[in-house]
Amino acid sequence: MQEKKQEKFKILFYDTKSYDKESMSAYLDAYPTLQIDFVESDIRENTAMLASGYDAVCVFVNAPMDRTVLNRLHGVGVRLILLRCAGYNNVDLGAAREMGMSVMRVPAYSPEAVAEHAMALALAVNRKLHKAYIKVRENNFALIGLTGLDLYGKTAGIVGTGRIGLAMCRICRGFGMRILAYDKYESTAAKALGVEYVPLERLFAESDLISLHCPLNDETYHMINEQTIAQMKSGVILVNTSRGALVDTQALIAGIRDHRFHGVGLDVYEEEDDNVFENREDDILLSSVVSRLLSFPNVIVTSHQGFLTAEALDAIAKTTLQNAQSYADGAPIRENVVG
Ligand code: NAD
Repeated sequence: MQEKKQEKFKILFYDTKSYDKESMSAYLDAYPTLQIDFVESDIRENTAMLASGYDAVCVFVNAPMDRTVLNRLHGVGVRLILLRCAGYNNVDLGAAREMGMSVMRVPAYSPEAVAEHAMALALAVNRKLHKAYIKVRENNFALIGLTGLDLYGKTAGIVGTGRIGLAMCRICRGFGMRILAYDKYESTAAKALGVEYVPLERLFAESDLISLHCPLNDETYHMINEQTIAQMKSGVILVNTSRGALVDTQALIAGIRDHRFHGVGLDVYEEEDDNVFENREDDILLSSVVSRLLSFPNVIVTSHQGFLTAEALDAIAKTTLQNAQSYADGAPIRENVVG
């Protein structure tokens, strides 16, 4: 008798990069009932129909999963959105719920990956490594303009002490810094490290390095603005590896022009969506905000690469496949379901 072939649970993987394909393919053999097809296309209203016949789509952090896109996906039969990231502020969860679509994410893959990148930005901008690298390559061995600050003995202000913020606290502790933190919920692990929770105004007023690690929501939108920049110490280092819209970019630009910052390190920024993960070397950038930020000598911008370590990609692939399998089996991993 011929054995009945088990139906595959089909996933369309949008916006595929070579590193995504490698990390996913490495674990796929362990899931014989999952099928993944990779496309390079971004997910948009007019590319949603590519998912026709698929059970799920897998998208990344900047995918605009608004009502229109979700509606199109629902119309072609998709019932599961697999976010291969932790943040989900890009998904209209209310619309997904109304349509009976499930959303699953990877809540924690490597908090250290992002925290280490935050400290890398702080160190690079502090010691002006971006300028030093270029200078030395041009045989310019002069040190004028490269003076940095010791971090040892200084105060770090960590906004949001969840997984990544806590990892950042550990790193700052290793640098011999005093650590102030602000979070809606205090972490006992952070307190055990000697972190002192203070109101946001005090954190801004006393910190030499401010690093943002809270999610983007209505409460945190533009938390760094004209008023809060005015509360900060002159010569502060500001690092944002969380979400661009935590910072009001126009206010930041005004603050940089007023010499309020020793340095600014941004892995995320408003209006990053058209640039992030793309090679736009030959384009003339239309956004004046990005060009403006890039014009300042004390600003380093990276393109949302905080997550990009081999360990993090591995963990993202494993959890995403587990999420898909658990949903296909009718028992989605509860803590990974959003909304
Ligand atoms: P998490 O959920 O573990 O921690 C977030 C913390 O922020 C929590 O402790 C929460 O209580 C706190 N918080 C919530 N609202 C707050 C508010 N109004 N003010 C202060 N704190 C508040 O999240 P995580 O894994 O640490 O990730 C933090 C953020 O990092 C994510 O939301 C995401 O935006 C960003 N992220 C960036 C990258 C990257 O590649 N750059 C990668 C992953 C995550």
